[in-house]
Amino acid sequence: MTDDPRRDIPRTDVVLARPALVTATERLGPAAVREAVRSAQAAARAGEIVPAAVGEYAESLVAGPPGLAPVLNATGIVVHTNLGRAPLSDAAVEALIAASGYTDVELDLTTGKRARRGAEALAALLLACPAAEDALVVNNGAAALVLATTALAAGKEVIVSRGELVEIGDGFRLPDLIAATGARLREVGTTNRTHLADYADAVGSNTGCILKVHPSNFQISGFTSSVPIDQLASLGPPVVADLGSGLLAPDPALPEEPDAATALGLGAALVTASGDKLLGGPQAGLILGREELVTRLRRHPLARALRVDKLTLAGLHATLTGTIPPVTAYRRIDKQALRQRCDRLAAQLRQRLHEPIPVVPSTGHVGGGGAPGVPLPGWALALPEEYAQSLRTGTPAVLARIERGRCLVDPRCVPTDRDPELVDAIEAAARELDR
Ligand SMILES: *Cc1c(COP(=O)(O)O)cnc(C)c1O
Repeated sequence: MTDDPRRDIPRTDVVLARPALVTATERLGPAAVREAVRSAQAAARAGEIVPAAVGEYAESLVAGPPGLAPVLNATGIVVHTNLGRAPLSDAAVEALIAASGYTDVELDLTTGKRARRGAEALAALLLACPAAEDALVVNNGAAALVLATTALAAGKEVIVSRGELVEIGDGFRLPDLIAATGARLREVGTTNRTHLADYADAVGSNTGCILKVHPSNFQISGFTSSVPIDQLASLGPPVVADLGSGLLAPDPALPEEPDAATALGLGAALVTASGDKLLGGPQAGLILGREELVTRLRRHPLARALRVDKLTLAGLHATLTGTIPPVTAYRRIDKQALRQRCDRLAAQLRQRLHEPIPVVPSTGHVGGGGAPGVPLPGWALALPEEYAQSLRTGTPAVLARIERGRCLVDPRCVPTDRDPELVDAIEAAARELDR
């Protein structure tokens, strides 16, 4: 019992005196650093680390900026909801920093008078989608839908096909959301088939709007039918199209993905979409469409509660006007370029670890509730499955994809200039697993 290694766990004041932790205390405050030391001691007590490693382990817990930890996305999934969806472009990041102080978000500097909030971002949105007469930006796609259905249909009915009563994930259940707005859901058709006559029978003096939802994260195949927007528009009530993905114009690489220009061209009165999916911008809900309806939404009291901050407006503006955002670049990366990158990474790792790392085909995905059926062919490094945990808990954290008992490191969504860090992270994981 006397040689129980747990007796060697260093005391809190001894660990806190380490220079790195003294510096961390200035940055994070004493409570956070004490908590890190306590966690490290607990890990040693549980036998997860050796007592001598307590100091270093506590340092690793407080390394980096406080709050959200940056992650290298090696999953091959471009819009990864658990990783915060779209990574911002350099232009958008610069715009966020520039907007972080005082800005002219609601002021015309020429006249000195109050101006429309985020006018530049809205103008950029309309320039990118000329089919829309007006635009509004709210907190996210769900907020856009809530505002549209509340303003058009509170106390009335929202007609929607049973095949479109979807759950997008993360608690977004369309029927629940509509119910929360005070509008009544009028379901028509069946799960797999809904016809124009089903909608026509439901339309009446109590109809607030017809809602068309893009079931963005699954596909129904076989004996199915749904009614296109132009036919719905012929019925009279305004058609609201919830597109989800945020494509403003058609993309030939994503033929099944709806876009705002096409939906409005077919007669949708309003479209709603997310800013941080295929558009590749900050979290936002985009509302585009007929001027009088957008004005109605803008003037609704709820709009004030759902509005976005100056950072979102700045990031969105830069995303729309700058170079193509990372999500677009990542989904278009050439397969051969990924192969060459993987070969290069594998060669560097072979030098360091003296072991060959297989390079294998890897299918990426758009992810994040978009283009569920579209594969993105590429390549990945194949490591043993146990690497996944070590990579995830390293610094920087690397999230790989587990597939058929292997840990696949797919560089598609890792910025090329971070490749050296990827190699370091895999080497560190190898050494950790070797111990
Ligand atoms: C993603 C999605 C939403 C929700 O948008 P958020 O920006 O996550 O709030 C709503 N509808 C559809 C069709 C979606 O794909």
